Amino acid sequence: MKKYLLSPGPTPVPEEILQIMSEPMVHHRTPAFKAMVGQAIEGLKYVFQTENDVLIFSASGTGAMEGAVSNVLNKGEKAIIIRNGKFAERWGEIAEKYGIESLYVDLPWGTVGQPATLDNLLKENPDVKAVYTQLTETSTGVVMPVKELGEIVSKTDALLVIDAISGLGGQEFYMDDWNVDICVAGSQKGLMLPPGHAYAAISEKAWTKIEKCTQPNYYFDWKLYRKKLATNTDPFTGSVLHIKGLLKAIEIIKEDGIQTRFNRYRNLATACRAAIKALGLEMFAETPCDVVTAVKVPKTVDGLALVKKMRDEYGFTIAGGQAGVKGKIFRIAHMGYIERFDIIAVISVLEMVLHDLGWKFEWGAGLSAAQKILAEEYK
Ligand SMILES: *Cc1c(COP(=O)(O)O)cnc(C)c1O
Repeated sequence: MKKYLLSPGPTPVPEEILQIMSEPMVHHRTPAFKAMVGQAIEGLKYVFQTENDVLIFSASGTGAMEGAVSNVLNKGEKAIIIRNGKFAERWGEIAEKYGIESLYVDLPWGTVGQPATLDNLLKENPDVKAVYTQLTETSTGVVMPVKELGEIVSKTDALLVIDAISGLGGQEFYMDDWNVDICVAGSQKGLMLPPGHAYAAISEKAWTKIEKCTQPNYYFDWKLYRKKLATNTDPFTGSVLHIKGLLKAIEIIKEDGIQTRFNRYRNLATACRAAIKALGLEMFAETPCDVVTAVKVPKTVDGLALVKKMRDEYGFTIAGGQAGVKGKIFRIAHMGYIERFDIIAVISVLEMVLHDLGWKFEWGAGLSAAQKILAEEYK
């Protein structure tokens, strides 16, 4: 059976990237490799839309999240964490480990809250040092109003820290224009690479705070990584193959242009949403993002069976719900190396599985709604 991967990480890797990542090993301390690292960093700046330093870590995305707490805040310092999904909760868990005093903005999953809430909280707590949230909260499919949050936080001494692990490269995002101080990402979602690389882009405002941070860090000591930037070296033995793959991924992204890619994922998302609606289903996210579509499972349908059937009987890996929404939602990812005919295929299978599970709809309704949008707008 042919396998399709439409999960929100890992995502499919283009053949040309896989090929490069199977080339013979090169040594990580050679001039040729350092040149590649330099080029990769420059390329990442384009993807982040930033002039800031970008650090590369051999780790999963969470490694960069941990560093964005442990390098920034001292024990007992205050942070605001907007908690509206599984990955938002992760910020809280990390902060707790490092003894940070977290002020939580707890919101129902699938919602994003009001920027004014943050504004007020910052005014009431002028000693808050950083605000943590996501660009796209993968567990619920929402996009956060990062630009608005940036306008608010940039007027204060606090830093805005964004987890763009699933959003980077797909969801519209401009780090510098939107006043983001630290942005973290990972390789296996929008960047079309296997898991194993994490990235952090860091503003000067953030570096000033990082210089004053005294938390113990060894592998994720960002000050050490910054020192090594001058020579394009990793303090340790970085993933050589990921650097090679990353260069190819950046080449692909640059060839399209980042704006074209934002438009394309928006089109894929719009097509998915239209299909969902045409099948009589409802979106889970209040403000749906462009990289993953989260859908409410109707009461009469078994949500766990839906995801399992798609994978085991049809070869399509999508994602179910996590934690509190397990069995209650399913998620179709359209990040990274996913194009319009992958959407056609997954909607087609979704119809078959919904039919198997007794949901009533008109055959082809979802497909036709998606196809119309993919045909009209996709460039
Ligand atoms: C996947 C994901 C993470 C976790 O990344 P890992 O690479 O699994 O460590 C964190 N935040 C968001 C928004 C994600 O989508």
